[in-house]
Amino acid sequence: MPIDPAVERLTRLAGLQVFRQADWMERFPTLLQGITGRAPGLDFGFLDGPTPTADPFAGDGSPSNGWEALQRGTGIRRVARCRQVHGAAVARHLAGEGDGVIVLGEADGLVTDMAGVLLTVTVADCVPVYLVDPIQRVLGLAHAGWRGTAAGVVGATLRAMLPLGARLDSLCAHLGPAICGECYEVGPEVTSALGESPEEGRYVDLRGLIASQLRAEGLGPAQVTVSRHCTRCEDRAFYSYRAGDRGRRMCAFLGWGSR
Ligand SMILES: [Zn+2]
Repeated sequence: MPIDPAVERLTRLAGLQVFRQADWMERFPTLLQGITGRAPGLDFGFLDGPTPTADPFAGDGSPSNGWEALQRGTGIRRVARCRQVHGAAVARHLAGEGDGVIVLGEADGLVTDMAGVLLTVTVADCVPVYLVDPIQRVLGLAHAGWRGTAAGVVGATLRAMLPLGARLDSLCAHLGPAICGECYEVGPEVTSALGESPEEGRYVDLRGLIASQLRAEGLGPAQVTVSRHCTRCEDRAFYSYRAGDRGRRMCAFLGWGSR
């Protein structure tokens, strides 16, 4: 797995502190890509699990102060999110969805070929996977924990970009801050779902597995970068589900802006 020594940069977008892929900031100046860190002042009102019968977020996606800060920081008003269910379904953002924070249903991958829309997923230990075709200007963003990785959400998101015009040879992928392989101890149900030997007390490097999946989809090693950041062992830089952060998430975002 290629580890770039300067993969991510901590920076600000109109006062919003975010971690961004450093190389992409230089190469793709109109790309708005990043992830928020531990920010007690920001609440993203995350949506997890199947849609309940009476869904309090069904209307407008419950924009809260986190979403407003993201809209202000990126200058993009149109934000797409999903009810994340740890599966492999992919939602496409289409023209005519309207402004504001929109919930595109139950999915863990989002794709678009439109500028002026911000794809988002919320994470705390799971891997945010950014897929960019800078030539065809097609974007994909996936939320991949162990269930989503086992279900193949990253490959499904990549393949959903191809009918929109994305090409394997121009794609770039970045695996953002997530729990590292030295922190992620899992049980046999997880290792066997991931196709590894089902022993007790195994440590799993989710980002390493996802990088392998991307190679199997046809991306070369130079097309995939991996964050050095661990959400669990870097004290209080990020939210970590494993470390006990149950009510908070970081927000990963990806969109083409006009600046
Ligand atoms: Zn760690």
